[in-house]
Amino acid sequence: ANFMRVIVDAAAPGLEHHRGSDLLCVVRALLKKIRRRVLVGDRVLVGAVDWTDRRGMIEDVFERRSEVADPPVANVDRLVVLFSLDQPRPEPATLTRFLVEAESTGIPFVLVFNKVELVDEQTIAYWRDRLKSWGYDPLFLSVDKQSGFTALEEMLEGQTTVVVGPSGVGKSSLINALRCNQNISEEDPIHKLLEQNSKWFGEQRVGTVSKKSGKGKHTTRHVSLLPIPGQGFLADTPGFNQPSLMKVTKKSLAETFPEIRKMLKENEPSKCLFNDCVHLGERGCVVKGDWERYPYYLQMLDEIKIREEIQ
Ligand code: GDP
Ligand code: ZN
Repeated sequence: ANFMRVIVDAAAPGLEHHRGSDLLCVVRALLKKIRRRVLVGDRVLVGAVDWTDRRGMIEDVFERRSEVADPPVANVDRLVVLFSLDQPRPEPATLTRFLVEAESTGIPFVLVFNKVELVDEQTIAYWRDRLKSWGYDPLFLSVDKQSGFTALEEMLEGQTTVVVGPSGVGKSSLINALRCNQNISEEDPIHKLLEQNSKWFGEQRVGTVSKKSGKGKHTTRHVSLLPIPGQGFLADTPGFNQPSLMKVTKKSLAETFPEIRKMLKENEPSKCLFNDCVHLGERGCVVKGDWERYPYYLQMLDEIKIREEIQ
């Protein structure tokens, strides 16, 4: 059976003292039958609890505030979009793709630049100003030198966070740095139990045989939420290495660019003449083309148009 670790945050009268403890739970067969997937981060209703053995059964899943597909986590409060100032250097096109993908989730995010110790002050100022002109206010830090963490840690307090970004920028290093400040009680019996059996710790470690091909075993991606200082949680698996833009439509792309949002706002109450304006210089369009990232907007619009035509 696949176990999920559930932290108790409310219990029936008389059982309140169990708040904060954890239970190893199986998912009720009926939920699987009606294809209600339980994601890490979900708020769930647990029944059939054995408080001595700390076991239970997930009987229902509450409505989600948000959902990230890669990695699969529910109720995410914040994304950290991580880049590095060097090794690798930020690429404006890649940066834009990640920012658009992050914007399209509707989840608040913070842009963070890592490896500050590899560059000089001027380079930092250059990126700060450039991102400001795009409409962003990034944080700068070094995971290696453990510098610049305070602002980030304050921002993540009490939140469930997923780190995303291209490879090599230090996502895994950042996740490790944030988690190791944590004093996990080695004495906690369930912690020992979880350590002894990794199958239980890796919530959602599921081995299935692919039905389509009938070929071999493939293991679905599993993810765990790690406690971080200040009551928050951090997904142990970083997300969208390759932004797919699947949630972005021809119409919604413009909303993912702060520059366009600003131009539209400045022109209120008048709008673009056509309701379905995609700001390609249509008659009566209030969005001008004289800003740095306009060419990226056009490229991505083309890409999305092609995708929508194929579908
Ligand atoms: P990921 O692919 O985004 O998960 O990146 P990793 O965490 O695997 O880090 C990629 C490389 O960058 C590793 O060699 C890290 O040691 C290095 N790295 C991470 N943070 C820093 C940093 O703050 N400064 C420097 N110079 N290197 C770093
Ligand atoms: Zn327009």
